[in-house]
Amino acid sequence: MIVTRTLDHYRAELKLIRTNPDIKLGFFPTMGYLHEGHASLISAARNENDYVVVSIFVNPTQFGPDEDFDAYPRNEGNDIQLCAQLGTDIVIIPDVAEMYPLETLTVVSVSKLSDSLCGHYRPGHFDGVTTIVSKLFNLVQPDVAYFGQKDAQQVTIIQRMVKELLFPIKIQICPTIREPDGLAMSSRNIRLKADARQVAPLIYKGLYSAAEKIKGGLRNVSEIIDVAGKVMKQSDKLVVQYIECRDRIRLKPLDVLDQPAILATAVFIDNVRLIDNIFLNPSEASDA
Ligand code: AMP
Repeated sequence: MIVTRTLDHYRAELKLIRTNPDIKLGFFPTMGYLHEGHASLISAARNENDYVVVSIFVNPTQFGPDEDFDAYPRNEGNDIQLCAQLGTDIVIIPDVAEMYPLETLTVVSVSKLSDSLCGHYRPGHFDGVTTIVSKLFNLVQPDVAYFGQKDAQQVTIIQRMVKELLFPIKIQICPTIREPDGLAMSSRNIRLKADARQVAPLIYKGLYSAAEKIKGGLRNVSEIIDVAGKVMKQSDKLVVQYIECRDRIRLKPLDVLDQPAILATAVFIDNVRLIDNIFLNPSEASDA
């Protein structure tokens, strides 16, 4: 496995790879502190491509001034080891000056889709995401890029960006990997103290309970949200930022569940912000 820290080094490797025009290159962008959720996406990329490239970059522009950029967990040694074990070909670990060589005057922004859900509470967050993902796409030049359903709004925005900006890249969405008690794996889970970790499974339990009611025929969205909220509020350590049900393409709020949708939530436990979501299909059961 090759570890690259500069754009020039990666580009030199890419030139060698692309001497064979039939090579299929899969790319998985991450912020590191890799866990089994990330591992599942690397494995998917490994199974479906000739070459697998993983990037590890904690992107400062997607964190607000009062957010946890400095506290975001990092462990480069473990990440490199895991990537190697899973058969990654190239890991890119650029520093901030490599990715942002000049004062940022150019921002990629997907309007409307970036304003709701997490975007409402984290202004500028998705502009940071779409800008860095565009830069990484330009650098890596993959055929397929892998994203987790865990960040459902992010992947919806990226899909839209790829279509509008004509990136010749297929976006592959992979399911959320969970702890045995249902908590979605996240790099931020390490920041939960023992008592916070104990209540964290209520997030998925709430979403799952709502999904069960939908299976039983519930279609009224405010009632669906109430079901999830009641479960999450079983602990006052868990503070709900939002629970919303929106259509999956335009992220428009729904009153009645009459089309494929997401039920998405963000909560704080102590001062750790966690997100989760499930896909809902009114015609079938949900995928919870
Ligand atoms: P991050 O490093 O947290 O920015 O995540 C990098 C990618 O991994 C994103 O596409 C996430 O959606 C995905 N991811 C994070 N956690 C999980 C999980 N528990 N299951 C599946 N994918 C995940």
